[in-house]
Amino acid sequence: MTKLDILVIAAHPDDAELGCSGTIAAHVAKGHKVGIVDLTKGEMGTRGTPEIRLQEADEAAKILGLSARENLGFSDIYFQNDHVHQHELIKVIRKYRPEIVLANAITDRHPDHGKGASLATHACFMSGLRKIETSLDGIPQDPWRPKFVYHYIQNNYIQPDFIFDITDYWDTKVASIMAFKSQFFDPSSQEPASFISSPEFLPFIESRSREFGHRIMTKYGEGFTIERFIGINDLFDLK
Ligand SMILES: [Zn+2]
Repeated sequence: MTKLDILVIAAHPDDAELGCSGTIAAHVAKGHKVGIVDLTKGEMGTRGTPEIRLQEADEAAKILGLSARENLGFSDIYFQNDHVHQHELIKVIRKYRPEIVLANAITDRHPDHGKGASLATHACFMSGLRKIETSLDGIPQDPWRPKFVYHYIQNNYIQPDFIFDITDYWDTKVASIMAFKSQFFDPSSQEPASFISSPEFLPFIESRSREFGHRIMTKYGEGFTIERFIGINDLFDLK
């Protein structure tokens, strides 16, 4: 089974691409193994179908060079941070044994994002508890707790705790977002307009990335929040 260095947990297919695909691409380029688990198929989205969005997610996975991508098929909008969903997510965390988890924004316009964030945080902690027993394909799984959970920032502005420089991976980020053709601005589309299909949405994503990049004196950045403190032992480690 593939052990991942980084597992990205996302409520909807395209959350990871919009929130942290530059950071993903940068770590893949450094030789790390990165995977995404999408919690739902985004079936409540205004545009597209679950089948189309799965194809788009596969296309984006190729662009980002992911080592794994899977979809848990939770119910879009209705999934909860409860026992049943925690158990399914713990199975995935124990399967891939990531050192770092990147999870949804802690609070956002879409209620699934904050829910996905707390579900991921709880499942990462619970995954380390020996007395929670899970199995995969009939084989019992060992406990595993990721060292860090960082939350990417999505629609609503959140003050980041750190910003990752994605300048060299901006083009890859855009390409991975555009893989979700059904969701974004397409003048030839016959589907109803949505919040993210307006021509203003992608320039907004760019301006957010430029704002974060500007704050660390680079061109483009992605911001993250942390639920604990990060320790350092060399002041020169900070950029
Ligand atoms: Zn979403």
